[in-house]
Amino acid sequence: MAEVESFTLDHTAVKAPYVRLISVERGPRGDAISNFDVRFVQPNEGEIPTAGLHTIEHLIAAQLRDHLDGVIDISPFGCRTGFHLIVWGEPAVVDVVAGIRESLRFIAEKAEWADVPGVSAVECGNYRDHSLHSAREWSKVILDQGISLDAFERVGV
Ligand SMILES: [Zn+2]
Repeated sequence: MAEVESFTLDHTAVKAPYVRLISVERGPRGDAISNFDVRFVQPNEGEIPTAGLHTIEHLIAAQLRDHLDGVIDISPFGCRTGFHLIVWGEPAVVDVVAGIRESLRFIAEKAEWADVPGVSAVECGNYRDHSLHSAREWSKVILDQGISLDAFERVGV
């Protein structure tokens, strides 16, 4: 079986919240795509409830594109402790952290229900399973803890 980098990470050694560069992939013409581990909750110590995570997903999809160039996708981990972020090029971790921080600040301090995109049955695969309250509260918790530039040491928080 192919080796998946995420399964080689020692999840007991990291100190969340953090942003970590997983890999840079190159296409045949040299284009670079970066894959980041955006970890919000300490693994095996907690997880964001599904409805709150789902609403963060919808809001951060739009917010992060306003704060970081080249976003291809940001999708939640099945373990509900964070997100994979896929971006064109090779943005610095410090710039990714800044974009994530601004996005969470919007969710924590400003977002109203009308700001959550794609929450109709036409636009979402489980439109009943959302919680803006949970999204706000978890965004506040993550911002209060600070987002580290390093997965193993608390840097820049
Ligand atoms: Zn959805």
